[in-house]
Amino acid sequence: MSVVTHTIANRASEPHRIANDAIVPENMAKTAEKSAVQSNFIRQIIEADNGSGKHGGKVITRFPPEPNGFLHIGHAKSICVNFGLARDYGGVCHLRFDDTNPVKEDIVYENSIKEMIEWLGFPYKDHLYHASDYFERLFEFAEHFIERGLAYVDSQSAEEMRANRGTFEKPGVNSPFRDRSVEENLKLFGEMRDGKHADGAHVLRLKIDMASPNINLRDPAIYRIRHVPHQRTGNKWCVYPLYDYTHSISDAIERITHSICTLEFEAHRPLYDWVLARLVESGKLPSPSPQQIEFARLNINYTVMSKRKLLELVETGAVSGWDDPRFWTLAGLRRRGYTPSSIRLFAERTGASKAHQWVDWVDLEGALREDLDPVAARAMVVLDPIRVVIENWPEDKVENCSAPVHPKDDSRGRREFQFSREVFIEREDFMETPAKGFFRLAPGGEVRLRYGYIIKCERIEKDASGRVATIYASFDSATKSGTPGGRNVKGAIHWVSKSDGFEAEVRLYDRLFTVENPDDEPGDYKDYLNPRSLATVRAWCEPSLRAALPDQSFQFERNGYFTPDRVDSKPGALVFNRAVGLKDGWKAG
Ligand code: ATP
Ligand code: MG
Repeated sequence: MSVVTHTIANRASEPHRIANDAIVPENMAKTAEKSAVQSNFIRQIIEADNGSGKHGGKVITRFPPEPNGFLHIGHAKSICVNFGLARDYGGVCHLRFDDTNPVKEDIVYENSIKEMIEWLGFPYKDHLYHASDYFERLFEFAEHFIERGLAYVDSQSAEEMRANRGTFEKPGVNSPFRDRSVEENLKLFGEMRDGKHADGAHVLRLKIDMASPNINLRDPAIYRIRHVPHQRTGNKWCVYPLYDYTHSISDAIERITHSICTLEFEAHRPLYDWVLARLVESGKLPSPSPQQIEFARLNINYTVMSKRKLLELVETGAVSGWDDPRFWTLAGLRRRGYTPSSIRLFAERTGASKAHQWVDWVDLEGALREDLDPVAARAMVVLDPIRVVIENWPEDKVENCSAPVHPKDDSRGRREFQFSREVFIEREDFMETPAKGFFRLAPGGEVRLRYGYIIKCERIEKDASGRVATIYASFDSATKSGTPGGRNVKGAIHWVSKSDGFEAEVRLYDRLFTVENPDDEPGDYKDYLNPRSLATVRAWCEPSLRAALPDQSFQFERNGYFTPDRVDSKPGALVFNRAVGLKDGWKAG
């Protein structure tokens, strides 16, 4: 299949919006200034509501994850939309865990979700909620629905219920239990709560319309029996409310103004509105109700987003864990070297619309480069070293060279490193038989060692396999970098001196999949895993990198942006990940 790539047009001409400093951490304000906040249909709805005074000018959004998986880049999009709108309109965004299915949920997920939202730079701590906080009220409201004749206990089997639900073409069939009396329903529902019935014996359903063209309105189930302890409420409950019912009521209890979700919930909106309207008309919930607004989910090529598939990739060892740097989970992106501000910038740029959205990975990479270029300290690192011996340089002599920490910011000072008789250069910067237009090192040719001297290749020595093992060179003492009036040559390459450089492991990544949409290919999506998605090399690094720590980003000159691996890198045994190369696109797998 071909993927429609939305590049974001008109970047330069978009209006800039400065974030509300009161709720925005410093690093975030920086990005908001940089990013191009675009108007979109959600902003238009909010602005119209603010204009009419519908919610008294308030904007309260929420991000409602189910604690049953780790966050990925698609969630980051939703987080940025919700927290971003709250930020831009002086409102608040709630973090609410939709923890209604204890079978699949775990506190480990909840903690990781909190950690990643914090990492992304969004303030949630004063507004942290759980749907399970509302279990008592949700239950009371369910009894209220029963009392009004708007809910009943259904004792059909799951298969019968499925068969009687009907199809898009065919209306559903009323349950034989639909006309149970209020008393009988209340008694049965109470018994369900008291643990008197087995899982699956009964469900509580709203009584709406089994013939509705919208299947979501065909008497949706709102409570089921699950004899499973809950991570927060323990053994208190053995009936748990279902998503649509819980979600709408939780939104209303929290006085959410704009309940933003993804498009697959569009057909659920009539149910959302129905539930809230009934509770508002009986004075159980305040008015106005929140408005559900749907936008298209974010899809990125070369990924799969379903939680089930991500789990499968972890469990089958296709990736090393949830935080594998090849993964598009937020933990993986962070470990790879993505910055929170680059992800916010990317989310902002991809906008919010109703149209299906396929975004190219290169847009995510572009956001990272753009974020890092002005701030990342520079360093020279040779990823694939060849030894160079400079024969006219005295055996024990070392001389200091220096380079700016950042080429556009003198205030950050200079980094120092030695020039000595033995240095390493990149294997690809030497060609025994130079191709046309190759201006780097070749037999008899010259090249500048950046910030150092011009050297000339005198001869080479090969190992038993015929690979170049050592280059013997001479240097020209009149060519030290920065010497006024000094001569120059066409090529300049990076290098590291053996005298003060050090070795480190460097991990270079490629896409995890070889095809743009693994979900759309014949066979299993796992058949399209890229066997060459990880390459590990021993590199030579300049001394300024010795103290590098995770969460720091560096531009290795000519090689891309790198960050120490937060799991495996240790002082004295550093491991760097390449977050992104310097140019667009990957080498094909
Ligand atoms: P599930 O199928 O288990 O519901 P989910 O990815 O929707 O998976 P949730 O925990 O329900 O997981 O997601 C929390 C929020 O993130 C939801 O509001 C959901 O709409 C939003 N979200 C999830 N994936 C994307 C995506 N790719 N783009 C934008 N928003 C997303
Ligand atoms: Mg969901």
